[in-house]
Order: sequence, then C-alpha cells, then structure tokens
Amino acid sequence: MIYLDHAATTQVAPEVFAAMQPFLQDQYGNPSSWYKLAHTAAAALDEARQRLAEYVGASPREIYFTGCGSEADNWAIKGTAWALRDKGRHIITSQIEHHAVLHACQALEQDGFEITYLPPDSSGLITAQQVAEALRDDTILVSIMHGNNEVGTLQPIEEIGEVCRERGVLFHSDMVQTLGKLPLNLADMPVDMAAFSAHKIHGPKGIGAMYLRRGVKIRNLLDGGGQEWSKRAGTENVAGIVGFGQAIELLQQRGEQEIPRLTALRDKLLEEIPKRIPHVIVTGHRRQRLPHIASFCLRYIEGEGILLSLDDADICASSGSACTSGSLEPSHVLLAMGYPHEVAHGSLRLSLGRNNTEQEIDHVLEVLPGIVERLREISPLWADARRSGGI
Ligand SMILES: *Cc1c(COP(=O)(O)O)cnc(C)c1O
Repeated sequence: MIYLDHAATTQVAPEVFAAMQPFLQDQYGNPSSWYKLAHTAAAALDEARQRLAEYVGASPREIYFTGCGSEADNWAIKGTAWALRDKGRHIITSQIEHHAVLHACQALEQDGFEITYLPPDSSGLITAQQVAEALRDDTILVSIMHGNNEVGTLQPIEEIGEVCRERGVLFHSDMVQTLGKLPLNLADMPVDMAAFSAHKIHGPKGIGAMYLRRGVKIRNLLDGGGQEWSKRAGTENVAGIVGFGQAIELLQQRGEQEIPRLTALRDKLLEEIPKRIPHVIVTGHRRQRLPHIASFCLRYIEGEGILLSLDDADICASSGSACTSGSLEPSHVLLAMGYPHEVAHGSLRLSLGRNNTEQEIDHVLEVLPGIVERLREISPLWADARRSGGI
C-alpha cells in the first residue's frame, strides 16, 4: 500500500508507540496525585511540554495540551471572543481555514459576533494588506492559518501578525500543518496563539496543544480541575502527551534532512503529473507552499472516482479535505480560490510523509495517467467537452 494522505493523518512512529506504552500500562498514575507513581507521570508530562516548547521557540508555560488541534483552534477563537466581548465583537479570518476555525467562527456569529471571511487570491494567498483594510476599531482577533491543509499555500503570517500588533489586535494562527515542516520560533513571531496536533507528525491521535503567549488572557473552554494551570480541565492524556513529545524528538533528530527530501518528492509530483496527464491544473502557490503537499484539479472527472480507482490500486489519497470528502460538496478552499464547481470536483491531494520513497512516487506517476484516462472515457463531463470542441 502507498500512503499519500499525510495531511489527513500519519502513522504513529515505532519510537512513539514504544514511548507511550509504559504510560498505558505500569505508569498509570494521575499526574495530580502525590505518590511516586504519580510523579513519574508528572515528570513525563513536564518533559514533553519542555520539548514541544523548545521546538517551537516558546516557554513551557506558554504550552497548553488539548484534546486535539481542533480544540486548540476552538479555544483560541472562542476564549478570545468571550474574554474581549466588551471591547468588541468583530473577528477577521479567511475563507480557506480548516473547519475547526471556520465553524468556531460560525458558532460565534450565533452569539452576536461579526466575522469577516477574507477571500484568497487564485493561489490561495491572503495578504497583510487585506487584513489591514478589514481591521476595525471593534476587531478583537485575527485568525489566519499558517499552511493550508488542502492546497499547501503558506500565508505571510509575520506580516499579518505585524499589522495586528500595530493595531493592538490579537493574532491566532492554525499551525497544525506547519509543525515539523517549517522552522518555528514563536518568541520572535508576532503570533499570540497557535494550534498544533500530534497525529499530523507521526504522533498519536487525540492530543493537541495550544500556544498562548505569556500575558495574553483568554477564557477557558473546559472548566473543572486545576490541570494546565487551571486553564484546561481534564486529567491529562499522559500517554498521548508523551507520544507527542517523542514525535517532536524525532522531528528534532531528522527534520533537517527530511524537509529537502519531501520537497523533492513534492516537486516531482507537481512537475510530472501535468506533463503526463492532459488538462491538469496545479492548485496552490508554486513557491510559497508546504513541502509535503501536492494538489491538483484533474479536469473532466470527479475526485471521488479518482480516489476509488486509486484505492483499487492500493494508493491512499484525498480529494478536498478529509472531513468533506465523505460528501459530494467540493472543497470550500478551491471554491474560495475561484475554481468553478465542476473543476473543484476533480481535486486530488497527494500529501507526503516520512515513510514515502521515490519508488512509490514513480509508481504513482506510472499508474495515474491510465486511471485518469479510463475515468474520462466514462465521464459525461469529458464527452460534453469533446462535443462542444472545448478539448
Ligand atoms: C488536521 C488539522 C486540524 C485538526 O487537528 P485535529 O487534531 O485532527 O483536531 C486543524 N487544522 C489543520 C490545518 C489541520 O490540518
């Protein structure tokens, strides 16, 4: 099997599994308890926090573990809105955010907040200028993702953050896809909050983290016990946190060689697929993009058809985002970038990870043209286009 859906999730690394195992078995203490068994868990938690903090250039006190990346996004957005609602009720985000951000903003609209959804250009870029022009006296938060999970476009978050800082507005960025793919030094970045997730970096599912800059006060999403300095209640997912820490350690060990390797595989896909298959559009920005995401629209076919045929060939890929690909709705990201419905329907995302080899990429390049040709032969869109002389 060839797995090319690392933007959806990744396999737990063997080292991560091994590091987690003791905390699911013998080391089951609750980190808040007082006996030695609990100290082991508490120490492991501290170590993982320290590791993540160091890796993203933050202080350990600025890292809060959450149940997932989606929770971190929700907390940053709703926590800010609830804390600052007397100051203003306007929030700026983009049309191409992950649903964890978009739907959190939509939920706030029901509570009387006003949201501006900035449109990207055709390459998926949002500019600092757009943010500057949308800022108002009652704007309390800007939330713009770092790297897009569908088309890979990287946003100029330093410039956007500077604009926010000048105007005294908090800035949150969803960094789930950039963790491990770009060097991050949050101490030097004009970012107040950021969301991370372990399962996109060969860690376990169900564990995320929020970066919250020291001094920034937001309301809690989960109230209860005193965990995470009384900011996020719930007995810690110790094994998950330990796994997250171990996944970070692997990034520290391998990151530097891994990024150019992924970039080369990505570029091979971006260059070769349009050469070997007619009527293909590369989506996303050509240069400002994540090293592991290659994305396309294959004209005159449906993404679902491609995915089924690829699955038959034991290749896992995705069309649109994982959450929407169960439905027939085309990706909100591609529609926002200006692609018509029928083009967006033919989207294909190949996202790379640690275990992918060049041979696997060559194999995909060999089988994909035949799959597309067969699908087009039975596609009404293809027949229509030929009849009308479009191709
Ligand atoms: C996967 C993903 C999330 C959600 O993370 P979970 O841990 O699955 O909740 C949020 N944002 C982006 C950009 C993602 O790719």
